[in-house]
Amino acid sequence: MIISVFIPHGGCPVRCSFCDQKTSGGVAVAPAAITKHIAAHLATAEKQTLGSPLPEVAFYGATFTALSTTLQTTYLDAVLPFIEKGEVGGVRISTRPDAIDSAWLLFLKQRYRLSTVEIGAQSFNPIVLQRMGRGHSVTDVEEAIKKLKDISLTIGLHLLVGCPSEGPTDDQLNLDGVLKLRPDFVRIHPLLVFKKTALADDVMNQNFVPLDLESAIERTARLVAALEAAHIPVFRIGLQPNEVMKDELMAGPYHPAFGELVRSRIWRHRLADQLKQERIREALEITLEIPPRLVSQVRGQKNCNIQWLNNNFQLTLGGQYMIKTLGHEYHQSNSTDVLQMRIRYPAGPSECRQIHAF
Ligand code: SF4
Repeated sequence: MIISVFIPHGGCPVRCSFCDQKTSGGVAVAPAAITKHIAAHLATAEKQTLGSPLPEVAFYGATFTALSTTLQTTYLDAVLPFIEKGEVGGVRISTRPDAIDSAWLLFLKQRYRLSTVEIGAQSFNPIVLQRMGRGHSVTDVEEAIKKLKDISLTIGLHLLVGCPSEGPTDDQLNLDGVLKLRPDFVRIHPLLVFKKTALADDVMNQNFVPLDLESAIERTARLVAALEAAHIPVFRIGLQPNEVMKDELMAGPYHPAFGELVRSRIWRHRLADQLKQERIREALEITLEIPPRLVSQVRGQKNCNIQWLNNNFQLTLGGQYMIKTLGHEYHQSNSTDVLQMRIRYPAGPSECRQIHAF
């Protein structure tokens, strides 16, 4: 469990053109309210099961390491009693790549059990970074990751899809950048335009057109699949929806279940890749056997993936794509992340292919 403490724009040396932490983050928590905030979360949390990791407190929405050292330790001192009582396992922070001081972070690690640092890289294209007013370079990102690795902190990297001034090869550029640095996990969001940002003016002045939802899903799905194929986990896809986000949204590919749409699109791509390798037109019937946990992802919203398969990989003998949910027995005895595609040809027994989720 993560107990998030939002400090919107705390310590930020600049205001990036796309960023409105008051909208995309959560309600700000003042230092004096942290103890109550953590205690309330712990009280409502389910009882810790033996062996499961302890909750961590995460300071998000800020350039935490650019806050004054006094303010940083004020926040962290509020967490310390929970750590000492064994109720909280450690601390996470988010910060910028140009605000990494190894000696200070080592101190935070030793004193407050800092475990994870999440870095906003956003893009590996210097033109994009400049256009969004980030005020740091790609080299800053590379150096930050190296420093964090040297002191053995877990590293999360944030990326944006659909930024202003992106070129056609930016997804590959970003993918190559992440693969080279190998953070421990990645968060990917499609760029949304909120009303109280400089980017909103760009949209008004027709200097920037955000992605439509379909392009955002398609591009994010390709990126996530490539990262996971390289064993870099993607912990979050799309911003966490909240009560104010929709009101403050001006433009962009917003969907409250964006991550689920992306996961579903990845399955579509994977099924299509498998079908391209088969003598599919000769098949009588194709049955997808899906572990219960994956049913909605594989089907897609309103069955869109199955319709898409029917439209794009037609079975000429009048056959159909059938869906079968694998039962409880299978669920218990096998990996839940394996989907089976059973292909029945007119002659001979049906053939079975296994498709693994990453
Ligand atoms: S993106 Fe990060 S550095 Fe930029 S304004 Fe937002 S919180 Fe601050």
